[in-house]
Amino acid sequence: MSKCVKCGEVVPTQVPEAMFCVHCGRPVGQKCPYCGNQYVALLQDDGRVEKGCRSCGQFFKFCRACGRLHRITHDRCATPGCGQPLYESSTAFPFTFGPLNGTRTCVIQGPVIGDLHLCRHADSDYFELPNILLEQSVYRYGRLYSFSSEAMHCLIWNGHGWEPHGRPVPFGATALGRVRSVLLEDQIASLTCQAAFQLINVGDDVCNFDPEPGESRPHRQAAGAHRLVWLYKSGRLQWRLTHQLTQTHDFKLPFSGHEVNDLVADTQIYLAAQTGLWRLDPVDNTLARLDDENEAISWQRMAVIDGTVVAMGHTRNHVGTVLRQYTGDDQPLSFPLREICHDFCWTGAQLFLITENTVIPFSTQSWTPTADPIQTSATAHSISGAICLQGTDTARLVLRRRADATMVYELFHAPTATCRQIGMPVNAHPHFVLAEDRLVLVYPEHTAPDTRRTRIRTFRTEGSL
Ligand SMILES: [Zn+2]
Ligand SMILES: [Zn+2]
Ligand SMILES: [Zn+2]
Repeated sequence: MSKCVKCGEVVPTQVPEAMFCVHCGRPVGQKCPYCGNQYVALLQDDGRVEKGCRSCGQFFKFCRACGRLHRITHDRCATPGCGQPLYESSTAFPFTFGPLNGTRTCVIQGPVIGDLHLCRHADSDYFELPNILLEQSVYRYGRLYSFSSEAMHCLIWNGHGWEPHGRPVPFGATALGRVRSVLLEDQIASLTCQAAFQLINVGDDVCNFDPEPGESRPHRQAAGAHRLVWLYKSGRLQWRLTHQLTQTHDFKLPFSGHEVNDLVADTQIYLAAQTGLWRLDPVDNTLARLDDENEAISWQRMAVIDGTVVAMGHTRNHVGTVLRQYTGDDQPLSFPLREICHDFCWTGAQLFLITENTVIPFSTQSWTPTADPIQTSATAHSISGAICLQGTDTARLVLRRRADATMVYELFHAPTATCRQIGMPVNAHPHFVLAEDRLVLVYPEHTAPDTRRTRIRTFRTEGSL
């Protein structure tokens, strides 16, 4: 059964493999864009989009305007006169460094009304993998890809809980060390590990790439406009940046020694460092300084939406925070805050500033705080890792990691500013994945000197499913 993208009517079951809507005549089905054999309905009758082909196993992107399904490598709809951007059924959610543009905001396909509830399925309350430490995960193409320092594990949701899908894919002989972040774009997973970067093709032909560059210490990664960006230290002081997947360009940064605190990318690449804010144009490889070099600000975080940059820094004497917005060639807007902010989430219209004991709602239109700070019940983790969930309703959920490991995340429901805790007593720091309407907490645990395991807990938003 399928549903018409245009008029919303359900196509009757008497018409199996219907290509056109019996009500309005628009397309409701097509052949798989890879194998050309398998019939695929553009929209299921419950309104969901098919993630991949049941026959050849390849993944799709879809057009929200006309519903047409495309190969994953396409960016724009191929329907004549449409040309709209294409979407996947979920967005990459590499938690350690937040979403790819640094906004720490993830869009959920549906409302985020109510609070988060633990999934009611008894068998999903705990999913346990003995002898495996899963250090990073990302949900893409309808699967949960999780990575230990030795292998990639793929899990699928069977309607009640997670189950392994296929065998783990080992990384080979190279010792990678701890996996710090993962990005999954265009079927290629990029891992930043302690000792090396690693690329893995997660498509049908799973294969490993040699980690590169050799003698270096990986620091951070970002992705934007089909460009993967790796930041690493080569030697003791020198920072280098590598970008592009196919045509690698290696770039030596003109500062040394100081910490680079953040790296984000869209069509340009941005760096927040202790000594300044920088923008690199990856086409002609020119580096420009955004801030004034006489300012005594240690830049901590930045985010970019369509070329507009929001940056956050601490004054060098650690008495306050400076917020700044750069839009094209206009004069930057600045806002000083007395508090030390650890992190922020940016939804476009609103910033949520995370301080040690509060969350401050801040308007990016008027460039002022919009409400009194929301007091929190416990201190925030200084490496904040806040995340905002933006649904199709007006509510926003801000999740904030707590300093005490007993309860790991706290949840704010904006605009009502109610607060509630999720999590549980753990002796490990989980990472966090958004899997459609489910939130997944993955806890790697060293339970005893020689025992290790990973536990997975799944939450969902009320009103979904
Ligand atoms: Zn129709
Ligand atoms: Zn196919
Ligand atoms: Zn289209």
